[in-house]
Amino acid sequence: MDFNLSEEQFMLIDMIRSMGKREKFSERAAQIDKSGEFPEDIMKMFAGLGLLGMTLSSEYGGGGQPALNALIAIEELAKFSPMIAAPVFESCVGAVRVIDLFGSEEHKKNIIPGVCSGEYSVSVCMTEPEAGSDLTALSTNIVEDGDEYVLNGRKCFITGGGHASHYLVYARYKGMSGYKGICGVLVEKGMPGFSFGKQEEFMGLRGMPSCDLIFEDVRIPKKNLIIDKGEFRTLMMTFDIERCGNSAMCLGVAGGAIEEAKKYAEERKAFGRPICEFQDIQFSIVNMTMKLEAARLLVYRAAMGAGKGLPSIYEASLGKCYANEMVIEVTNQAMQIFGGYGYSREFPIERMLRDGRAWSVAGGTLQMLKITMASMIFGRRFNQTA
Ligand SMILES: Cc1cc2nc3c(=O)[nH]c(=O)nc-3n(C[C@H](O)[C@H](O)[C@H](O)COP(=O)(O)OP(=O)(O)OC[C@H]3O[C@@H](n4cnc5c(N)ncnc54)[C@H](O)[C@@H]3O)c2cc1C
Repeated sequence: MDFNLSEEQFMLIDMIRSMGKREKFSERAAQIDKSGEFPEDIMKMFAGLGLLGMTLSSEYGGGGQPALNALIAIEELAKFSPMIAAPVFESCVGAVRVIDLFGSEEHKKNIIPGVCSGEYSVSVCMTEPEAGSDLTALSTNIVEDGDEYVLNGRKCFITGGGHASHYLVYARYKGMSGYKGICGVLVEKGMPGFSFGKQEEFMGLRGMPSCDLIFEDVRIPKKNLIIDKGEFRTLMMTFDIERCGNSAMCLGVAGGAIEEAKKYAEERKAFGRPICEFQDIQFSIVNMTMKLEAARLLVYRAAMGAGKGLPSIYEASLGKCYANEMVIEVTNQAMQIFGGYGYSREFPIERMLRDGRAWSVAGGTLQMLKITMASMIFGRRFNQTA
């Protein structure tokens, strides 16, 4: 097993760290959290640096790089803020990968170059008000009508809602129950009958566009059917690379919190000494670092296995669960090291704790992933349905 990063990967890390200093990303992160505004301007900057679409096929303008490179970039950027890492996440491990893997030639040519230039982005739309973990209960539906499908229904908590140009919508053929009737259709912003609800107010990830999507008799050309019914497993598998991106966000937020806690522990004095001289503070930092490093190994393993394709469901789920729990513990411990100031909005730790809390729900909850892993460990499915 090779645990070493390549020279190219070290260069990527150096490039992001110098950009972060030059562009004052720490200050930007605080400002985005305060204003709640998506940082549009960084899209163009990232496009210029080749950070958008790093993993997408090179024949359509993507970087053709392995998943691990994108995860490294996401982790480095998320040390400042997941909002600063979001454009790389969306363009490298988001739903556009489904278009790249399963879309038609026409879709790839129309969408991928725009994603790489920062003009387009693709949101994944699964969750509904009455169907979250139990996706097979989704009711958004399509009905065939000549050369088109007619789409009706409502999605909620959709990241990029209102902001993205394209939406990969999980819908069922009307009248077909269970997972067998579920397919994936591409909906474009501006299609008649497609509208957005109000911006979601989350405790963290402020600046991330998120809202309900409303479909009222939206007519979709048949060519926009990306994954047909009977291919539910394929739809879910493509989501595993997004799960690695979710895990990389956790690595970044936790890494950022450890850096802040270490710096603070060297500066802050109590009993006439810097608090880093107290063994409990040292052990706290060591425990946080151990957990972060262990999570990184699991996430990198899943990404290395994926190469330019998809990771194993087991490895991606294991990495995500561990990283999701780790970031909550690490940001919480970092807050303790900051004492009262950790609880103050003047310092970045409370933002990191809020931002770190999201990942164990987004991209499939901890419990649902543990159910998946349990079925693999026991070698049998455990039916959750009453
Ligand atoms: C920041 C953020 C971003 C998101 N982005 C997107 C997005 O871009 N696209 C999208 O489609 N969705 C998105 N979501 C929605 C997310 O995927 C869902 O919230 C998640 O899948 C859980 O669904 P739910 O909220 O309906 O919870 P529920 O399904 O109602 O579950 C409630 C609780 O019950 C638990 N539970 C349910 N069933 C079981 C079981 N069988 N055994 C044990 N426990 C169980 C769950 O784990 C959870 O803790 C996002 C959510 C967040 C917070």
